[in-house]
Amino acid sequence: MRPTRLDPLFAPIGTLKGVGPKLEALFARLLDTDGPPRVADLLFHLPSGLIDRRARPTLAEAQAGQIVTVEVSIDRHRPAPPGKSRAPYRVQCSDHTGDLTLVWFHAHRARIEELCPVGETRIVSGTIELFDGMRQMVHPDRVVTAEQFATMPLIEPVYPMTEGLGSALIRRAGDAALARLPKLPEWQDRHLIDRRAWPDFGTALRSVHAPRDLDDFAPEGPAWSRLAYDELLANQLALGLVRANLRRPAGRRNVGDGTVRARIEAGLPFELTGSQRRAAAEIASDMSAETRMLRLLQGDVGSGKTVVALMACAAAAEVGRQSALMAPTEILARQHAKTLTALTGQSGLEIAILTGREKGQERARILARLESGEIAIVVGTHALFQDSVRFRDLGLAVIDEQHRFGVHQRLALAAKGEAVDLLVMTATPIPRTLVLTYFGDMDSSQLTEKPAGRKPVDTRIIALDRLAEVVDGIGRALDAGRQVYWVCPLVAESEETDMAAAEERFATLGQRFGDKVDLIHGQMKGADKDAAMLRFQRGDSRLLVATTVIEVGVDVPQASVMVIDHAERFGLAQLHQLRGRIGRGETASTCILLYKGPLGEVARKRLDIMRETEDGFRIAEEDLKLRGEGDVLGTKQSGMPGFRLARLEHHGGLLETARNDAKLVIETDPKLTTERGEALRDLLYLFGRDEAIRLVKAG
Ligand code: ADP
Ligand code: MG
Repeated sequence: MRPTRLDPLFAPIGTLKGVGPKLEALFARLLDTDGPPRVADLLFHLPSGLIDRRARPTLAEAQAGQIVTVEVSIDRHRPAPPGKSRAPYRVQCSDHTGDLTLVWFHAHRARIEELCPVGETRIVSGTIELFDGMRQMVHPDRVVTAEQFATMPLIEPVYPMTEGLGSALIRRAGDAALARLPKLPEWQDRHLIDRRAWPDFGTALRSVHAPRDLDDFAPEGPAWSRLAYDELLANQLALGLVRANLRRPAGRRNVGDGTVRARIEAGLPFELTGSQRRAAAEIASDMSAETRMLRLLQGDVGSGKTVVALMACAAAAEVGRQSALMAPTEILARQHAKTLTALTGQSGLEIAILTGREKGQERARILARLESGEIAIVVGTHALFQDSVRFRDLGLAVIDEQHRFGVHQRLALAAKGEAVDLLVMTATPIPRTLVLTYFGDMDSSQLTEKPAGRKPVDTRIIALDRLAEVVDGIGRALDAGRQVYWVCPLVAESEETDMAAAEERFATLGQRFGDKVDLIHGQMKGADKDAAMLRFQRGDSRLLVATTVIEVGVDVPQASVMVIDHAERFGLAQLHQLRGRIGRGETASTCILLYKGPLGEVARKRLDIMRETEDGFRIAEEDLKLRGEGDVLGTKQSGMPGFRLARLEHHGGLLETARNDAKLVIETDPKLTTERGEALRDLLYLFGRDEAIRLVKAG
């Protein structure tokens, strides 16, 4: 149970003064929370910058373009002349050094008269401009009395906003949220806090939201660093607890005598590469150890992870244990099932698929065969987590494209058996620093060679103005018997608009190429998607217009051309992932990055990098450099588990400390029962890492 002292932070923000249901809905969108946003979510929504109003010049000293706070007397009002309502409303002011004109467009006369009574003194804050040699301030940010000024913050945070929810509203709600902050016990090590001169958690939050000094909000300043460290520690501690729990001696060896593996390898239509062999050996060695395996299999798109996973499943099958392979999408699950079935040919391993689509009798039959142990390998989606899914003896869980799943999902699958070995496969090459952040201390195997016979992809960058030429070129490629992907971008957040873009392109390409063209997008029913994929795989369709649903894992080796429409809208990792769909067969492949100009600097860089290299690790590193603050560890868009406060480029240096700190805690206080341990539980709750607390209890 969550300690009650945390309740104020977990209250819905609708309970804050001034936040009604309408604002709450806007906040839900802004903060991108799963449920109703809570006070803590708001407090973790950090400003994106500051407005510094501390410059207090006389009017004569004030520079054009400067944000200033000046004290003036109100001399005269000059409303728009009658009949010229478009003209601005002006108010003349002065101090002993000069004049200033305040300017409002579309002004409410009564409001301005109230704001600026003639003959009185007011303190005005905003940006000074020169207009016809006269000093003016258009739409001053603040006009206050001396009394109001006494409590006006001179450094003002600015927040990332959403439509209908401006910075001022966010600030006001934030103030109300800060007022709710309870006094919490210190969960950080005293020595560390002292050495770094970090404030306590509450003070740190107050500093970043209501800074008195620029340093209060600097990423490397003590307040933000402390908060980032809190988050990093919560993350490392949760990962560490999961790992410690999974790593308890299991006393089972999930590897047999190698006979099934040998049979499978003999039946493969290709030779395993050196790194596939090495990875398979590392995995087998983990699986035969007393403790559970927790291993990451990293390999660029097309590096051949599936067959390595199959070897692991086969090893488990040798001792009569079952394996589950989980994929993030249905298309991918079906693809895996198909590939595995083809690769296991003569080995006698029984393979089944289980997704949301297997229903009724069919589903019941699969579930029964899983429970009886008849099925050796089950491939599926989230459906595998359901309680109704039971195994006779699950020995191995393989999770593909891990970053789409959370820690508790990993646990849910692992909990379906005794001491289940865990293999996580990711096609997104993750720079080493990030592995630690997302997976904690996982062992890792890497597939560094591409399977033999792969040819480099020729990547070209072409402006959309030349669409007609590109379409002609596609026509020639189709005539030459090649198969083509045409990828349409994410236009907006919603899948429906994606679909519209794809459908439009489908329509125009269809006019030209007739029934060679087919369409696949995320809004289609599962069976229709499969059918479209199958038609393309079989070569019945030759040009597949697609949204990013084909991003993960789809394997049609004979497709050798890809056009990425509006390539400037894609992230680097995504472009790389998409391009990985081609260059898998015998023919040399071409990728056309079709962009709509003018290109921004970062977009241009991204496309250039794509043209320069196919090395996933290099691309991942470049991506990290190019992506601005927040994005790498931040958004759901990137599909990575979210960090709300820590920014890798500023706080990456704290990661190692957090990891060691977490390790020490787990060694010395594995149940989190000491005074600090208790406080650390608060930390885990605050950052939504409380699944880990359940483990502590269970253990
Ligand atoms: P990914 O790592 O992207 O999941 P896959 O496992 O889907 O890659 O493999 C991509 C393709 O390469 C598949 O068609 C697979 O059969 C083939 N493949 C895998 N290993 C080899 C190999 N050693 N030699 C040749 N082809 C291979
Ligand atoms: Mg794959």
